[in-house]
Amino acid sequence: MSQLDSLSAKQKYSFNKLQKRLRRHVGKAIADFNMIEDGDKVMVCLSGGKDSYTLLDILMFLKKQAPIHFDIVAVNLDQKQPGFPEHILPEYLDTLDVEYKIVEEDTYSIVKDKIPEGKTTCSLCSRLRRGILYRTATELGATKIALGHHREDMLETLFLNMFHGGKLKSMPPKLVSDDGKQMVIRPLAYCAEKDIASYAELVAFPIIPCNLCGSQENLQRKVIKEMIASWDKQFPGRVESMFRALQNVTPSHLADPNLFNFIDLKTQETPYEDGDIGFDQPDIESPQLMEEDPSKIVQVIEIT
Ligand code: SF4
Repeated sequence: MSQLDSLSAKQKYSFNKLQKRLRRHVGKAIADFNMIEDGDKVMVCLSGGKDSYTLLDILMFLKKQAPIHFDIVAVNLDQKQPGFPEHILPEYLDTLDVEYKIVEEDTYSIVKDKIPEGKTTCSLCSRLRRGILYRTATELGATKIALGHHREDMLETLFLNMFHGGKLKSMPPKLVSDDGKQMVIRPLAYCAEKDIASYAELVAFPIIPCNLCGSQENLQRKVIKEMIASWDKQFPGRVESMFRALQNVTPSHLADPNLFNFIDLKTQETPYEDGDIGFDQPDIESPQLMEEDPSKIVQVIEIT
């Protein structure tokens, strides 16, 4: 009996709502960014984590409903980490009606060999993984590579780049690979991590732990993850607002002369669309929040 069978009527109702929400968000992201087109072959990268299982599950559903035809091939890269339970994914995939391929490449030994003990291994490991996945996509004739990154991954990357890289740069929902040959898509871009986590738990995907390589989780990312999670608790709606900001950029109100031509900026006789409103205070939080709890205004200003 699956976990879903044991849910009460009320829990089933909530599950259905959650499932619909996730499917709607994925469908919208695909449409907004033209991620999948008629005739595409989408290679879904499956790591064994909650995000990629959810991605495959939803794409398989949408494939049946979509007015266009596209194919799916699920790919897992077995990097030969000690203790990797290699039977789990094939057993799961055999229960689905989906083409799949398990690629076996011992990147673990390469990384251990090249990186001195105690140094972080993730950068070389992910470079190797990326190369193998791109090659596999070409071999399989895939026209899109789908990754399981979600809304919070994108926001964490934004803050990581700001705090440590001096760049206003996130993780795009769609991009061309660095070798120029592959189109990478992130259909979970609009999905909240907590929704994905609840969904994965209720569906009971056979999750493979992600710490098999023994490497520390990226500490800087972990700090930012906690920061965003605490904001989400303290200021409901902030994460949504930050994500909306990623889709609502005003280059003339940033300070990158490559993005906006400040040099040739001139005054004019008619109202100027991108014009500033002089010395007005920028909006810092919704008026509703301010009315409700003035003490929060202080916290907002301190953190902002
Ligand atoms: S956590 Fe391990 S498997 Fe993941 S990128 Fe880092 S070294 Fe590679």
